[in-house]
Amino acid sequence: KTITADDIRTSVKEENVQFLRLMFTDINGIIKNVEVPVSQLEKVLANKMAFDGSSIDGFVRIEESDMLLFPDFNTWLLFPWENDHGKVARLICSVHRMDGTPFEGDPRNNLVRVIQDMKDDGYSAFNIGPEPEFFLFKLDENGEPSMQLNDKGSYFDFAPLDMGENCRRDIVLELEKMGFEVEASHHEVAPGQHEIDFRYTDALDAADHIQTFKLVVKTIARKHGLYATFMPKPLHGINGSGMHINMSLFKGEKNFFFDPETDTQLSDSAMHFLAGLLAHARALTAINNPTVNSYKRLVPGFEAPVYIAWSGTNRSPLIRVPLARGLGTRLELRSVDPTANPYLAIAAILEAGLDGIENKLTPEEAVDRNIYRMQDSERKANHIQDLPSTLHNAIKALEDDPVVKAALGPHLYQSFKDSKDLEWAAYRQSVSEWERDQYLELY
Ligand code: ADP
Ligand code: MG
Ligand code: MG
Ligand code: MG
Ligand code: MG
Repeated sequence: KTITADDIRTSVKEENVQFLRLMFTDINGIIKNVEVPVSQLEKVLANKMAFDGSSIDGFVRIEESDMLLFPDFNTWLLFPWENDHGKVARLICSVHRMDGTPFEGDPRNNLVRVIQDMKDDGYSAFNIGPEPEFFLFKLDENGEPSMQLNDKGSYFDFAPLDMGENCRRDIVLELEKMGFEVEASHHEVAPGQHEIDFRYTDALDAADHIQTFKLVVKTIARKHGLYATFMPKPLHGINGSGMHINMSLFKGEKNFFFDPETDTQLSDSAMHFLAGLLAHARALTAINNPTVNSYKRLVPGFEAPVYIAWSGTNRSPLIRVPLARGLGTRLELRSVDPTANPYLAIAAILEAGLDGIENKLTPEEAVDRNIYRMQDSERKANHIQDLPSTLHNAIKALEDDPVVKAALGPHLYQSFKDSKDLEWAAYRQSVSEWERDQYLELY
């Protein structure tokens, strides 16, 4: 699909759009909005909307602060729910310098760059199917999130246990109005936890979709008196929220991971790509699990990966190769959580995989047993390494991985690292309830 400026002008008239919301994403994956009245439409369409980049995390220093928003017309979309003061439409934008050149500190520009490199290598698309999970908590009397879950449901439960079902159904309806192709939505393993899967699209669309998805989920949840959070591990003792990433490389209309001629019907390139993900797994963790809390999810016993391994049958490892073949041939990376900046995560994953293809890396044998039940010595004999266990260790792994660093480019790498170093430093200084419970009386 290609939407033109004229299509947008027509839509504004026909739908009586009153506000334009210009969206982009900062280094931490947070959606930023500039909302302007529709009188500014021509300025928006002409790439002339300026904003102060120095107020955005990870962007620029004060002395070069003015930046421009270049809307991607293909992201034109009407929000179905905000009709009180006229309709609101949004455009996802790229950030450019005042001279018009793309700003390399914009995560979306960076993904566009990485995708272009991939196309120059002869691939047509990197397809991504995300499986975001989230919790629904009750809002208190003041409209603030409480830590009270809104149901006691569990995996694939139905009403009346699943009281979030109405809310989830509403979310799905709104998403469909906005053009999402929702493949499935269900209650997850933990109480109050849900998953909504939408159909795979190519990398840039998928990243845009993930950002829009989070916005829709939070907005609709509030209408139901609920608070939706994508925090990876809001409660200890129950499963955390992940965002499995399903992926495949296409050449023309063909899935390049599929090869009917091999025993497994996986192409050699699929295996090289898989090996690239494994080889760079530790550094990728910094991007895919970018918060202190991410590492509270990556622990044994809650279906989240802890070890660097892959399997065709088992759901405990880092990478699973689902049984689907043909167009559906794909790899599923199960470590990613929804705090990941999707533009950075997808760029890093793609470069790690392509590095595997370029260097013809081969993966270790598949591990089709439960890795958690193995002895340490057994894991060692099978060359099974750990994922980083803290944000600090993940950032150190990123520092040592030139491929994943290059996937971000120097500007984004530096601002990502600066931001995460600060986060870790702040966390180190905090003292938790757990520590007081353990030590206050014991010592
Ligand atoms: P799971 O079995 O892990 O729960 P789901 O069925 O929930 O998996 O989600 C599978 C995801 O994989 C969907 O988003 C789907 O669109 C996506 N998918 C299917 N085929 C491909 C493909 N060729 N490339 C990338 N993603 C794909
Ligand atoms: Mg799923
Ligand atoms: Mg499924
Ligand atoms: Mg799930
Ligand atoms: Mg999955």
